[in-house]
Amino acid sequence: MQLDTLWQFMQVDMEADGFENKMRQSASRQKLIKQRDFLKDQQANMKKLETEIAVMQDRLEAVQDEADRLEKSLGALAEEFENNPPQNAEDAQKQAEAVQKLVDSLSRYEQELSKMRKDADTKDRQQKEIRVRAAKTKMEFDQLKVEYDKEFKADTAALQQMRERTEAESKKVDPALLSKYHSIKQHCTPPMAKLINGQCSGCFMSLPSATLLDIRSGDRIVECDNCGRILYDAGE
Ligand SMILES: [Zn+2]
Repeated sequence: MQLDTLWQFMQVDMEADGFENKMRQSASRQKLIKQRDFLKDQQANMKKLETEIAVMQDRLEAVQDEADRLEKSLGALAEEFENNPPQNAEDAQKQAEAVQKLVDSLSRYEQELSKMRKDADTKDRQQKEIRVRAAKTKMEFDQLKVEYDKEFKADTAALQQMRERTEAESKKVDPALLSKYHSIKQHCTPPMAKLINGQCSGCFMSLPSATLLDIRSGDRIVECDNCGRILYDAGE
């Protein structure tokens, strides 16, 4: 009966599919994907940090320029104080206040600068840490990749053999039946189910007696009303 050959074909087809799935779920492969994602994240983090550091550097330079300018003003004021010493108490007071004001501003700028330098150091440290971590992961990734490539090559050869066997088995099956099998497989796998005790063994639904009769007569291909699988009566 033609369903026997289709059932035979399904065994090798399912074996090949199962093997391919196992390959996809391989532990090394999963680990490689995780490491690759981690490396991508680190690259993104590095880029973000680099941008932040560049912005910080610009601000640091601007504040430094301002501090330099204040220092020059302070120098000029000191020089003027030397060349034209105050003639009275009021002038002396005014000059002292001007100097104090500049000194205060300068000290505020120095504080700001020291805070910014500390922030920049922290970001530099973060950047170094990321670089070290990423380099370590990259090394592990490269090592694992070599192992995985070997595993993958061997598995691919094994799968190739299974697919060739599947191809050979498929030649024994009626083409129309084979195409039905493949269209069912799109939404339901395995696409065939044995008939056991009047039930579809794919979804365990009890089949109406008319359907059972249809199957036993063997006149036509019967699909399960519930799951759509081709029902196969192995005569068990
Ligand atoms: Zn079913």
